[in-house]
Formats: sequence, C-alpha cells, structure tokens
Amino acid sequence: MKGTFRVSVTKEDLVFAAAHFITFAGHRCETLHGHNYRVSVMLEGGLEPESWFVADFSVVKKIMRALTGELDHKVLLPTSNPIVAVTRDGPRVLVAVSGEPRYVFPERDCVLLPIPNTTVEMLAQHLAGRLRQELAKGGVKQVTAIELEVQENFGQSAIYRES
Ligand SMILES: [Zn+2]
Repeated sequence: MKGTFRVSVTKEDLVFAAAHFITFAGHRCETLHGHNYRVSVMLEGGLEPESWFVADFSVVKKIMRALTGELDHKVLLPTSNPIVAVTRDGPRVLVAVSGEPRYVFPERDCVLLPIPNTTVEMLAQHLAGRLRQELAKGGVKQVTAIELEVQENFGQSAIYRES
C-alpha cells in the first residue's frame, strides 16, 4: 500500500477585500460591489525527505499572503470576458460592457486578471495556478494535487482542484 498526505492551510489572515462585478449569459451584468473573500488551500503529496512534511507551512502561508495581498483593496477586472472590454489608458483603466462605457478607475486600484469572469470558480483556478508556480519556485517538490477554495460569503464558495 502506498500512502499520501493532505495538508491544509486555512488562516484568518488569508483574506482579501475586493470589488468586482460578474456577467451572466447574454448581456446581463452585475453592478460593482464588494466581498471579503476568504481563501484556503489543501495540498496533497508525498513527504519531503529529511523533513517529513509535504510542504513547509511557513512557505505556503507566505505565498498565500502575497497572492491575497495582490488582490486586497482592489477592483478585480477580467481581461478575457467576451462582453467586458478593459483598456489601459495612461494612469486610468476604462471598462466598457457590451460596447457601453461603464467605469473609469485609477490603474493602481485595479488588478487585471487573465480570466473570463471574476466568479469564485475562476478566482480559485487563477490562484491555484499562481500557487503552483510559486511552490515550484520555492522548491516544494512533493505536491501532487492542489485544492484551492475561495469563499465570497459565508457558506458560498468554490473549490478548484488540479493534480
Ligand atoms: Zn459578487
């Protein structure tokens, strides 16, 4: 028999407060609003030789704090949504929906994300990809699966898993 381990990191400080809007099928689009998002991570894998852990918790926490910090107090904008056009214009970001100008934000207050919609599903997938890159950079080699949960309200979340 071969065993694997699952470790999880669910910390009170893995949060980000951000503004967003999502689009629905057709031309429907929410108005701008915010959430206090919470993130948790589960890693599956074998053990690092000599340290007997899947990944160093302090490394995972540091990465996740940096990733959530990038999104904290920002407007989250999708750059691959078919009806939302996000354009940089000097220090401003212009947002049009279905061809109609809708918002102008200071660029420093925005995060442009290469996703089609800022749903918790897409945010979870995006953050899992960033986490995978950063774990590799941090020398974490034993992880065989990543599960990342993004919660936008208590009891309302999405989990993305990749292995
Ligand atoms: Zn929302």
